[in-house]
This record gives sequence, C-alpha cells and structure tokens, in this order.
Amino acid sequence: MKVKIIYTDDLKVGIGGYVKFPLFPLFGLGTPTIRLRKKYIEDEGILNHELKHIEQYGKKWCHAQLYTWNKAYRYKCELEAYTEQIKAYGYNRLNQCDWVIDSLANKYNLNKKTDDIKVDIIKILNKI
Ligand SMILES: [Zn+2]
Repeated sequence: MKVKIIYTDDLKVGIGGYVKFPLFPLFGLGTPTIRLRKKYIEDEGILNHELKHIEQYGKKWCHAQLYTWNKAYRYKCELEAYTEQIKAYGYNRLNQCDWVIDSLANKYNLNKKTDDIKVDIIKILNKI
C-alpha cells in the first residue's frame, strides 16, 4: 500500500504521531498519511508503530471504524503497534516500557488497568 509520511509539529499537544486514513478506502481512493513530529525524523520505532496501523487497516476494511468504536480492538491494535516500537528500541525489561504502559493507560480511552497492561507487555517482552 502506498503511504504518505509527513513530519510536522502541527499536532495536538502530547501526540507524537498518528495515521490519517483516506475517506473512501473501499474505492481505493486516497493514500493513508502518517503524520509525525519533526523530532522523530530519525526514530524508526514510532514510524514502525504507525506503519503497523496501516498494515492493520490493509487487512480489515473497517479498521478505522472498529478502532474508533471498539475499545478491545483499539487495545489489540495498539499492543501490536507498540510491539514494533519495543522491538525497534531493543527493549527487554519492563521498566523500559513504563512510558508505553503509561500511554496505554492514559492516552487511548481504553479503560485498562495498569496492572493488566503490564501483564500484556510482559507477554510481548517474552515473545520478542
Ligand atoms: Zn498507535
């Protein structure tokens, strides 16, 4: 899938990056766009995180809708995306993932308990 990547600081406070999906994906119109802060221009981890979301979108035509409305689906998608980031940064200890756990607990409206997120991050660390 063709992807457009834009480095910009025109993002909401506290957001490092996100993907904007085309309005009419069913008709193959438009290109998904990744928007990342300029400070992340050399950061492979955050780029791989957003590319994982594009892959998820490519696999499921209703990805954007599910992601928006279904907390369990959104959590699954974010865990997959953060896995790419954890891999890129070479993390192998839980305390290196504190900021990931904090993001998942606070930024995505997931209603997930920190302890439950920790369990899932430990599973990821054990797998990679
Ligand atoms: Zn994400």
